[in-house]
Amino acid sequence: MLDEPLNEWFAKGAVLANLLGQVFIRWPHGNRSKEVKVVEDRKGALEIGLVVGAVLGSVLLPALWAAIGLFGFAEYRLLPAPFVLGVFAMLVGLWLFHRSHVDLGRNWSATLQIREEHRLVTNGVYARIRHPMYSSLFLLGTAQALFLPNWIVGPSYLVGFGLLYLLRVGREEQMMIDSFGEEYAEYSRRTGRLFPK
Ligand code: SAH
Repeated sequence: MLDEPLNEWFAKGAVLANLLGQVFIRWPHGNRSKEVKVVEDRKGALEIGLVVGAVLGSVLLPALWAAIGLFGFAEYRLLPAPFVLGVFAMLVGLWLFHRSHVDLGRNWSATLQIREEHRLVTNGVYARIRHPMYSSLFLLGTAQALFLPNWIVGPSYLVGFGLLYLLRVGREEQMMIDSFGEEYAEYSRRTGRLFPK
């Protein structure tokens, strides 16, 4: 078992690395996407609510936990094995998060949108998985559940993003079918949603 003070600092360091890693990777892509015109928007009220929920679980709760010890009553002692596994999941997750942003390029949106001159990306990490960015977010959420020793805040990323994923992925694929037709249908047949086929 890790010592009490170490317990806290290892966990906080990992939580901070996870947060900052995602912010820095997304930053340039978020900036660029502001310049690309949206030609179709399917976000809707439910989607906005789900995005807010996902941000709450993946950013706000862990940041407040690290800063002010939010939900201190639900804390438990961090063991070395889940900590190391969590850091490993985070490193793989951040790599995949980065790669999927690079491969999607100007076609990326934080929500359900088709951009001007949208192109169907089927190369790089999109060659065998249709939703590698969502795979990466599941990895980063699993990482948080493993290295954040709090029964409420630890799983909050997975819960928030899991709900967003469940209610979004079908609508996203429908939007892609409506925009790309048989090209997306054929792409779907040779790829898996979150894992390579
Ligand atoms: N679901 C993908 C992309 C997430 S970003 C992933 O997990 O990697 C969400 C936006 O990406 C959607 O609004 C859609 O416009 C766009 N998108 C999703 N798959 C795409 C693809 N294969 N090629 C181009 N754009 C795609």
